[in-house]
Amino acid sequence: MIRKIFCLVLLLLLGAGLMRPAPATAADARLNGVLLSRIGGGTRAYLYLSRRTQARYFTLDHPYRAVIDLERTQLGQAVRLPQQWGLVSHTRVGVRPNGALRVVFVLRSAAAVHLTWQPGARGGQQLLIRLSGGAAPAATAARGPTAVAVANAPPDSGRDIIIAVDPGHGGIDPGTIGAYGTEEKTITLAIGKLLAQRIDAQRGLRAVLTRDTDVFVPLRERREIAQRAHADLFVSIHCNSVWDHAIKGAQVYILSLHGASSEAARILAEHENAADLRGGVQLNDKSRTLAAVLLNLSQTATISESMTAARDVVRAMDGSVPVRSRQVQDANFVVLRSPDIPSMLIETDYLSDPVEALKLRTYWYQKRIADAIFRGILAYFRAHPPSGTLFAEERQARMNRLLARN
Ligand SMILES: [Zn+2]
Repeated sequence: MIRKIFCLVLLLLLGAGLMRPAPATAADARLNGVLLSRIGGGTRAYLYLSRRTQARYFTLDHPYRAVIDLERTQLGQAVRLPQQWGLVSHTRVGVRPNGALRVVFVLRSAAAVHLTWQPGARGGQQLLIRLSGGAAPAATAARGPTAVAVANAPPDSGRDIIIAVDPGHGGIDPGTIGAYGTEEKTITLAIGKLLAQRIDAQRGLRAVLTRDTDVFVPLRERREIAQRAHADLFVSIHCNSVWDHAIKGAQVYILSLHGASSEAARILAEHENAADLRGGVQLNDKSRTLAAVLLNLSQTATISESMTAARDVVRAMDGSVPVRSRQVQDANFVVLRSPDIPSMLIETDYLSDPVEALKLRTYWYQKRIADAIFRGILAYFRAHPPSGTLFAEERQARMNRLLARN
């Protein structure tokens, strides 16, 4: 179980078999930006850093605070601190005598804290801090310059990883209509439900369907469902169609960087008209240019996670069902544009191919596709478990066992 200290750098060192601190010659890290974002009932803070550094957190009460210490880190110039967003009522930064940079989030209520490092743009790193409210107040809190620890790990063991499963189309929108009048919406719903069942049967994973009946759900609402559920991954299921009826096989898509940039522009435009950006990123405290840059940083990291997950899914599908392309494709799909949930869209097969259309109508083939996608998702989360999850704890336990053996 991950508790008390959270230190991902340690994981790296363990992985390399080294247990010594970073060499003294390494340059200090620099904190270039802080951003708050509200997802469902939780709040996320992003710390944009020039490089990864040792990060520790602890919580305090009276008032509730989440305190993040970044070892050997300097505060970049002109960094503006976001205030008042979601669980956060105030943010401040101070330098510790030992050269650590301390970021303090003053909270409206007790919160569980989870830290995750993610790759940022141009070789930088971002530290994602998930603050989930409603946690029991901290039992203990370590203080002082060398304090490393304590408090507020969730009471049970690690949380489930949440996967939003999005059966494409539905209701008035049939999607593609393939051979024998087969409607895409029917196939995607069947595969989506089978995938969700498979996910729910796995300890440590939980599925959230964006629809489980034949209803129309607008694209942005699908993303919002995922955000409200605090999803760790968004998987949209579709079937393709093409004039050439001999073409078949699966293709997996992630958002293109171009799409990300235009989404940043769209969110900014939206912000002009809306005080509160639901599920989005807080922009009102910053110049618009900086906000665009920060939003892109966040989306760039998400895209790189999406790519890793999508590759695992392609690999798992390949050999089990026909795969048209082993390369992950990128496209500007609206449904993939969540700034902070890794997302993929799977065109499971071509309904225009009469043989494939017949197959896609059968339970065994739908199950086969769902199982293949599931194996890919499982492989991805076994290798990249989000912090605070049961999968992360199990991975840590595996590493500890490995270490104990040596
Ligand atoms: Zn579709």
